[in-house]
Formats: sequence, structure tokens, C-alpha cells
Amino acid sequence: MNPAVLAQDHYWLRRAHCPVTLLPSGFTANRQGLAEVDLAIAQGRIERIQPTGAALPTTVPQLDLDGRMVLPCFVDSHTHLDKGHIWERSPNSDGTFAGALRATRKDIARFWQSEDVYRRMEFGLCCSEAHGTRAVRTHIDCTHGQYQISLPVAAQLREEWRDRLTLQIVSLLPVTEFLTPEGAAIADHIAQLGAILGGVAYSHPDLDAALDALFNLAKSRGIEQLDFHVDESGDPNAMALRSVAAAALRHGFTGSILCGHCCSLAVQAPGVVAQTLALVKQAGIAIVSLPMCNLFLQDRRIDHTTPRWRGVTLAHEIRQAGIPLAFASDNCRDPFYGFGDHDMLEVFRESVRIAHLDYPCGDWVETVTDIPAQTLGLGANRLEPGQGADCIIFSGRSYSELLARSQHDRWVIRGGKRCDRPLPDYRKLDDLVALGEFPDNL
Ligand SMILES: [Zn+2]
Repeated sequence: MNPAVLAQDHYWLRRAHCPVTLLPSGFTANRQGLAEVDLAIAQGRIERIQPTGAALPTTVPQLDLDGRMVLPCFVDSHTHLDKGHIWERSPNSDGTFAGALRATRKDIARFWQSEDVYRRMEFGLCCSEAHGTRAVRTHIDCTHGQYQISLPVAAQLREEWRDRLTLQIVSLLPVTEFLTPEGAAIADHIAQLGAILGGVAYSHPDLDAALDALFNLAKSRGIEQLDFHVDESGDPNAMALRSVAAAALRHGFTGSILCGHCCSLAVQAPGVVAQTLALVKQAGIAIVSLPMCNLFLQDRRIDHTTPRWRGVTLAHEIRQAGIPLAFASDNCRDPFYGFGDHDMLEVFRESVRIAHLDYPCGDWVETVTDIPAQTLGLGANRLEPGQGADCIIFSGRSYSELLARSQHDRWVIRGGKRCDRPLPDYRKLDDLVALGEFPDNL
């Protein structure tokens, strides 16, 4: 294939395999839910899509994809760019959630000045862009006054990257802190930035009071997007998701709410799950699952025995309940997850394998493309005439080929043109992070 055509203002992509679930209605799917189509790209937008076979104008350049899969660019709806890539200097000494918190707290206190946060966040954005992601929502650790350093850095990057990638910013702190003046100050900063109010909701005697405080702060400051970490554990008594849904209904909240993790649903009785999901549906809450991070932290055993459960939420049941569900990256090369490359294809591939999304893959590809875009308020993210020509051409021609290899040779198209930015070299961060291992008791 000659990529020169992808520098033109007007061209046809011939013989592309696209999921029918992301196409306009009326296309015939093969057994895998893919249709073979020709797409006209003009002035940065998808101009037309038609089944392969019809005659094409000979005056317009064509690129024959020979069945390669084309997807809309990815949307990564739950990340922690501010924590990213600190593993080398602050590894998680025992792999547990508590170990992750411990190592991260020490890293924050020791290193998180503006330049450190900026360069690691930018590194993550470069990875996301190179892999074909067009929008990223990142949580920003706001505890112990860190918001005063990290929120301005995130806002600066949001502005600098405006033409390359949409960056959304969410506050991250225990929701009980919204009962304190510090929580109100953080809500003020979030409102001023036009960002998203978020926090970690967990089992606590003051949880409902804390959620009331958070919803009141959002209401009084005109914040219409909320985002919670909930129930990231295998504890069947963890019911923060239900508490958030109840609070949203109690406050008549009409904005958007995204809840991440929801692992404990997987260890609760079916009747309990049904009641919670009914409330979540009624409250209009969307859920994002972070399977790679869950695999890493959940059921981690310090005696080096084998984990017994995978830690992921009830993906199938959530979708069957009519609740929008996305999959996302979560942490990347930090004490909460020692691996990752901000690659949403890896997230999708692992989600398919971990949650058995492959009988058939069907419309699950929406969970990393259209659904997170809609959940983040970015509008539709599909392959339809009128949509921006922001898409990825993979070498794989079927889900089997797509998900079997890394697809590192993919071509990213942004605004109708090939975006050929390489992955950043790890050496760029050597002066920040290659400091050797520090003892855990620093
Ligand atoms: Zn998270």
C-alpha cells in the first residue's frame, strides 16, 4: 500500500472491513459483523460510504485496503496520566493495592513538581496519539495540596494539545474530603478550569454525607460532569456504586456521571446486583471497566500464590441492563499497574480475552470508540458521512487477525491525513525516572 494517497484532500479508501455496528444502517455484515465498504474522504471528513462493488469516479485517487479493518479513533475514558511512568523509580514492592498507594504517596511527596508531572503526562499523550486515540480523560491526584501543582499543568497540556487530542481533567481525592474546606477549594478550581468533579467513593460511615456535599458543590458551581472511582475490590459489601446512584437520584442531578471499576458487582448475589444496576440505569450513570489494572491488583497475594479471581466487573450484565459501558486504560507503568502503553487496542484485546467478548465480538468494539465518546460528551464517534475522518487502518482484516497481533504497523488518520507520529522513546524520561529502585520505607 502506498500511503501517499493519505496526504490528499480527497480520496477513496477501497475495500475496508468495518464493523456494521459503527456504520450507518443498511450494510450487510459477514459472520464477524464486518462489512466491506468504500469510504470517500474529503476535506477532513467522511463524505460517503457505500458497499464495495459500485463504480468509483476515476478522477479521485484510491487506496485499496484489501480488506484491512478500519475503526474510528479510540477514546480513552479513564486514565491517570499524572501517575504514569514512575514505575522505575517507585515500583510497587508487593503488588497490592495498599502497596500501590504507599509507593505513589511517597513518589508524589518526593518528585511531583510541575516539570515532572508535565513531562510524564505529555509522554502519555504522545503514546495515546501514536496509537490512534483522539480523546483522553485523566484523573488528577488532588490530595495534600497537590492540586495546586497538577491541575495547572493538566490545564496547560489540555490547551497545548487542543488541535491534536481532546484532554479532559477530573479531580481525584477521597469523596469524604468534600466535607472539608479543602474539598470545596478543589471544587472551585475544577469549576474555574471547566473540568470534571470526581473522587473515590468507598465504604465509610460518612459516605452519603460526603456524596451530598459533592453533589451540592457541583450544583452550586454549575459543574455538570461527575466521575467516581467505586468498589475497586473483591469485597461483596462494597456498595459505593449504589450509593452514588442513590445520591444522583436524591439530588435530581441531570448532568453526566461516569463510575469506574465496579469490581465488587462480580462477587455479589444476583438479586443485589439487579437492584444496583436498576438504580444505576435510573440515574443515567455510565460505567467504565479497567480490566488490565484489575488483573494486576485484584487478588494479589503476597505469599506468591496464584490469584483466584480476575477482578473485572459484570460487563455482559451491565450492557444487558442497557447501561453504557466502556473499557479504558487506567494506570500505566506506575505502582497501580506496572505495564501498559496507553494503547486502546491493547485494552480492547485484553478485555475481549478477559471478559469473553468474543462469541461473537459483535458490537463490543463500541466500548472503546462510540460509547466512551458519547459518555464524555464528545458526540458520536462512528464511521458515518459527516463525521471527521479520524480513523485507524489496521493490517488485520478480521477480529481474529486484529486481536492476535499487536498491530503496531497501524496507520492513524486524523482530519483525513495520515498522522505519522512515532511512539516516544523511553529515554526521554531517563533523567526523571531512571533513578534506581528506592527502598519502600523512604
Ligand atoms: Zn483509576
